Amino acid sequence: MSYDVLVIGGGASGMMAAIAAKKSGAKVGILEKNPLLGKKILATGNGRCNFTNEFQDESCYRSGNPILSKEVLEGFNVELTLMEFSKIGILAKSKDGYYYPRSNQAVSVRHCFEKAILSNDIDFFPNSDVVKIQTKEDGFLIETKETSYEGKKLILCTGGKASPKSGSDGSGYKFAKGMGHHIIKPLPALVQLHCKENYFKKLKGIRSTGKVSLQIDGEKVAFDTGEIQFTKDGISGIPVFNISRYAVRALDQKKDVVCSIDLFPDFTYDVLCSHLRNQLIYRSYPVTILDGMMGMLNDQLIPVLLKIMGLNALDSTTVLDEQMILDMASFLKDWQVVIVGNHDFEFAQVTSGGIDLNEVNPTMESKLQKGLFFAGEVLDLDGICGGYNLQWAWSSGYIAGKNAAEH
Ligand SMILES: Cc1cc2nc3c(=O)[nH]c(=O)nc-3n(C[C@H](O)[C@H](O)[C@H](O)COP(=O)(O)OP(=O)(O)OC[C@H]3O[C@@H](n4cnc5c(N)ncnc54)[C@H](O)[C@@H]3O)c2cc1C
Repeated sequence: MSYDVLVIGGGASGMMAAIAAKKSGAKVGILEKNPLLGKKILATGNGRCNFTNEFQDESCYRSGNPILSKEVLEGFNVELTLMEFSKIGILAKSKDGYYYPRSNQAVSVRHCFEKAILSNDIDFFPNSDVVKIQTKEDGFLIETKETSYEGKKLILCTGGKASPKSGSDGSGYKFAKGMGHHIIKPLPALVQLHCKENYFKKLKGIRSTGKVSLQIDGEKVAFDTGEIQFTKDGISGIPVFNISRYAVRALDQKKDVVCSIDLFPDFTYDVLCSHLRNQLIYRSYPVTILDGMMGMLNDQLIPVLLKIMGLNALDSTTVLDEQMILDMASFLKDWQVVIVGNHDFEFAQVTSGGIDLNEVNPTMESKLQKGLFFAGEVLDLDGICGGYNLQWAWSSGYIAGKNAAEH
């Protein structure tokens, strides 16, 4: 079978690329190894699919070519995405700028894309695991385990390596490499971090608001604020996810990685000292230190933190002096934990690294192989939590599809 545009991978970016290519008049086919389109979408946003975000800034995207990614994200921006979604039947709702389908169901996003693809005469080939791509004079020969297809243009939308059970196992890197592309080492991102300290066992399940700041070889490289989740062996939650890509890459390069946790980011050091003095020293009657601190932090967190500080939660507040208050405030604003590992791709939401964006034109066409286009997570770009990774999939997918059909 022969197509103007063949899309490999029927995830978010591949489905958007196929729709855009079809709109520009091309004969389009999608090869997807899963039996259904958009499997990963079902897991996004805890089943609700946070598909984009009103707040767009360069700092929300991390790549080796921010100029290109900005051009692509502006070329098919949030407004155009919402319009395209509306055209295929997905109405959106915003919660503090975070966009979800009005249905609140990721399943409806997948369904509407599938409907748009099947009703627009785009040929969808399920259970089609692409195993080989050959370049020809006038296009590409694509082999699945069972058969072969020809495409004048090819859009590689195979995703990264995160959540391989959804189909993205990194096969796209092999194909891109085979056509001369450089692959920046793919590593897990938006992922839990493991800490060296043994006391995390006692913190499992506790959540606390805080600011996490990442230091690599002593230099502060990233920070974020939000709800930190403590696990049996480390830290998780959105702020940790958002700094994780730097930690994982630094660990891979055998660098020293330390995370400073500020449990009172909304208090200055002096205000915190004053609050601690009021609760622990200037009391009309003594209480245990635990009682005195109750209301400041999660009650299960307090005894563990006090133990790390060398204090006993059940001691009377009378044991404390001014220097101890100052030391407590310093610790609570700069609790340092050593990062020694991270969860694997299986549990990562995205991949950092991938096909080098410096080898790609703003049309999403390869600079090295004419007729070859890329979109989505297979490229060296990862976003923070909040709809940014899907926005990259929609933007790069749309632009790749449109240009593959028109050029
Ligand atoms: C649990 C979870 C929650 C997430 N939540 C959000 C969220 O709320 N908001 C957000 O913005 N992002 C979220 N993400 C990230 C987002 O889902 C991805 O960045 C996005 O889906 C990437 O789209 P893609 O099309 O590039 O790749 P994928 O969606 O991974 O699609 C790639 C497709 O290619 C197919 N494929 C791969 N190799 C082959 C081959 N050789 N032959 C044929 N087909 C192949 C795969 O089966 C797959 O269907 C989440 C990710 C996870 C894992």
